[in-house]
Amino acid sequence: MSPQPIFAFVDLDDSLLQTREKCRQAPLTEAAYDRTGAPLSFHTPAQIALLELLQGASLIPVTGRNLRALRQVRSPRFSSYRITSHGALVLGPDEDLLPSWRAGLHHQASEWAGPLAEVAAIADELIATERLALRSRVIDDLGIPVYVSIKGPPVELSLLAERIAPHWGTGVVHSNDKNLALLPPFADKAAAVRHVMAEIEDTVEAPPVYIGIGDSLTDLPFLRLCHFALVPQHSQIQAQAWAEPGAPG
Ligand SMILES: [Mg+2]
Repeated sequence: MSPQPIFAFVDLDDSLLQTREKCRQAPLTEAAYDRTGAPLSFHTPAQIALLELLQGASLIPVTGRNLRALRQVRSPRFSSYRITSHGALVLGPDEDLLPSWRAGLHHQASEWAGPLAEVAAIADELIATERLALRSRVIDDLGIPVYVSIKGPPVELSLLAERIAPHWGTGVVHSNDKNLALLPPFADKAAAVRHVMAEIEDTVEAPPVYIGIGDSLTDLPFLRLCHFALVPQHSQIQAQAWAEPGAPG
């Protein structure tokens, strides 16, 4: 066996677990729950097999979930770093902000609190005037406003995305299926992964090996930082990168 420690940076939703209607295999294993404790997301048998294969690696979530929603994930379990809210927060195994991340985050978050509230108000206004069946809210993580989440039918979301993009200057518009997120520049999965890699390299003796797992186009920048990247079938990345020409997505 290689003495090199293996770290897997893993997106969660639609990579390692998903809602029941998106599962293309059975039987399903419960993976995450809603606030009432009802199962909301599941593993397919292929995902269970993949997680077994990764047992020799330290799994680090790189997720759009905030810490509260990450705690609703019961499988897989995490014992190392955690990256939440699309990279806005970098936490240690104790679920506290990494001291080395805290100062930069607080500076950026106070700068972006105003613009986030403003773009959320514009989104609410567009939803009301266009009569869109969408729900918008500012997501907080550890009390810090980190991004605007808008959920609803994909067609209405892409209409809103088009209308809102001009109001979201240097921010990123993440859009995949029934989710749209307006991300400030400090919610950056690649920057967070790069930061954790530097922390890891300060503590391990042998050079670490990095595996990345993700499904969304906005996962690509952090996947590029890894030695290997794993992309699920039927994902947004696959549809864009190597779907058969003319095949439905
Ligand atoms: Mg995902």
